[in-house]
Amino acid sequence: MAFCEVIVDIVHENVDRRFTYRVPDGMLLTPGMRVLVPFGPRKVEGYVISLVDRCDIRCRDVIRPLEDYPALLPHMMRLAVELSRRAHCPLAETLRLMIPAQMRGERVRPKEQEIVSLRADAHVIDSLTAALRRAPKQAQILRVLSEAPDHALPMESLRQAVPDCRAAVNALCKKQMISVSRTEVLRRPAYTPDAALAAEPQLTPAQKAVLDELHPALQAGTGSFLLYGVTGSGKTEVYIRAVQDALARGRTAIVLVPEIALTPQMVDWFKARFGQSAAVLHSRLSVGQRFDEWRRIRRGEARVVVGARSAIFAPLENLGIIIIDEEHEQSYISDRSPRYDAREVARIRCEGEGATLLLASATPSMRSFALAQRGDLTLLELPTRVHNRPLPEVHLIDMREELEMGNHTIFSGPLMEGLQRCLDGGHQAILFVNRRGFSTFVSCRSCGYIVKCPNCDVSMTYHQDGETMQCHYCGHREAPPSVCPACHSRYIRYFGTGTQKVEAEMRRYFPNVPTLRMDNDTTRTRDAHHEILGRFRRQEARVLIGTQMIAKGLDFPNVTLVGVIAADATLGLPDYRASERTFQLITQVAGRAGRAESPGEVFVQTYNPDHYSIQSAARQDFRAFYEQEMQRRRRQLFPPFTQICRLLIESERADALESTAQSLAEQMDAFMLRHPELGRQLISLRSLEPPIRMIRKKLRWQVVAKLIDVPASEPVVAKMTELSRIEWPGAQVYLEINPSDMV
Ligand code: ADP
Ligand code: ZN
Ligand code: ZN
Repeated sequence: MAFCEVIVDIVHENVDRRFTYRVPDGMLLTPGMRVLVPFGPRKVEGYVISLVDRCDIRCRDVIRPLEDYPALLPHMMRLAVELSRRAHCPLAETLRLMIPAQMRGERVRPKEQEIVSLRADAHVIDSLTAALRRAPKQAQILRVLSEAPDHALPMESLRQAVPDCRAAVNALCKKQMISVSRTEVLRRPAYTPDAALAAEPQLTPAQKAVLDELHPALQAGTGSFLLYGVTGSGKTEVYIRAVQDALARGRTAIVLVPEIALTPQMVDWFKARFGQSAAVLHSRLSVGQRFDEWRRIRRGEARVVVGARSAIFAPLENLGIIIIDEEHEQSYISDRSPRYDAREVARIRCEGEGATLLLASATPSMRSFALAQRGDLTLLELPTRVHNRPLPEVHLIDMREELEMGNHTIFSGPLMEGLQRCLDGGHQAILFVNRRGFSTFVSCRSCGYIVKCPNCDVSMTYHQDGETMQCHYCGHREAPPSVCPACHSRYIRYFGTGTQKVEAEMRRYFPNVPTLRMDNDTTRTRDAHHEILGRFRRQEARVLIGTQMIAKGLDFPNVTLVGVIAADATLGLPDYRASERTFQLITQVAGRAGRAESPGEVFVQTYNPDHYSIQSAARQDFRAFYEQEMQRRRRQLFPPFTQICRLLIESERADALESTAQSLAEQMDAFMLRHPELGRQLISLRSLEPPIRMIRKKLRWQVVAKLIDVPASEPVVAKMTELSRIEWPGAQVYLEINPSDMV
């Protein structure tokens, strides 16, 4: 008798273990297959973890397999186990990451097509059709099929040639003159290859040097690298060659990008160079297309996968390399359950599957660069642009001076002149509006002063009610000043300039210049990103105005000017990464200028021209920024030196919110008392109100712990995870680790 151990697809601690089922005679099951099993009074889906040949208790029968192949490969099951251990969550939750969401509940199925084939000999068609004088439709079908390639046609095409042919088809089947079979068709997005992109450029010496270092690692199936390459240094070509290298060895590759919609060019390049062997997983795919691409990968038909965060779970076998472009991006972190960091998953996969890891960025994350300094990642560099094109010249514009000179508009004099020059020269411009910090912090327009917490060096957050500012790392609060504490100017206000405002100003000063706007409002529809960027590429507009969306990855040869309207906006974010994000954004957006023959110019408008993140971004000097920022992080005990964990509580009722918060704080205190050995790991533990007190009618509260040393503090994280998983009456509790926004 055969039995199997199954993890049921229910995310709950109580059922987070293997259940044994009997495999009915004649049913073929292998580990990794998904099955339908009885569970109490219900039928639930589950994953076969292993087969066993005995079972001591009476157990129930597997109802049926859900697919006839294992959806989970053994190494993907191991990955799920490892991730559930790290995220302290039930295995069912991480197993879900490994398959397309709609496969659960059988909400998507393979698409089948009817193929009508001619069985009669094509030579005798004339006599057959003559005999079918009284059935002209049948005769017509025979004729159409005899002229079709391979004497077969999909039913849909046949119907177009011979309308209403169903009855005739049935009649011909009976006479055994034709047959109808079912085959699967893959749903794939339409794509016209671009010949220009398919060309292989000759590598620059710097690209070659990087590839020469990667080559032996790929051969050995080892190595973790950080490629620090300035904007326009040709990193994409390095990725392509490294992937080719892997494929030539019969291996496979994953390329992660922060957001597919924002990197259409990278996608086009990969499609052009790898054709059918590339699968691109992006949000514009339909459910069916996504499912079919997943199965193409699973069957080994697609050997290169390009996609955003979740593509790290692509079911490839024989993995040769994982490449993570713009590795500093927050979008690689999933901070809600199940928590994971795609860069960390990539590391685990590479180690487990014998593959090479390549992280790359023009502005590496603090953590990755620190790992490279320590030797845990091998540093590779592309220090100059392709063909020694100069990096753009960056002008820092002190907006305080503009104000003094009586300029109250959002465009400085130098930016206006630069725009005029750029447009007169027949070039295009990008105007970048840093929207993240919209109206959340308080700063002085005369001197650039930003109101900060006295304890934390994090800007104070302006609260919805307009009465107070608060630091949400420590809870300190005070009233917003009516005059600037530094210069006594009354121009102190909350910050923010939107894209619409910039668009309106453009229209005022350059009425005949066509512009395009790319922000959350203009990109609601599926194809909007693609369409706007396409129009800009075709030069239907001269100026592109946008938010973060236009900051990275874009390569428009005719863009010679980039204007950053308010560089400071991210500086004021209630985030210990505010400086890092400011540096990254300015460097990345500046990198969009002057990528082809004409040199680029960048105008960075700021109220803080002396801030180190703005200064070093203007010089495109990552190392200088890194040194200063790491010193500050060490001094103020921020990541990567520490870990910030928060339990976020949401409830519709104030009393439930309060009692949950109180209970969480008490249980954490009690836990710390029971484990004095962990006391050294805990820098602070606080229960406080978040800056946004209500979202979608839910009241919010937070309990924030700051911890030292990740492995040793893991029991505290485990405890917080456990608390986040309890069902709290009338409230939801979420755990977030180093959350990207503490709003
Ligand atoms: P990055 O990602 O480093 O910012 P890209 O990969 O977008 O840079 O490359 C910048 C530009 O240089 C692109 O237009 C690309 O086509 C071009 N390029 C890259 N490598 C080469 C090369 N070896 N020869 C000629 N042009 C190249
Ligand atoms: Zn001031
Ligand atoms: Zn504080």
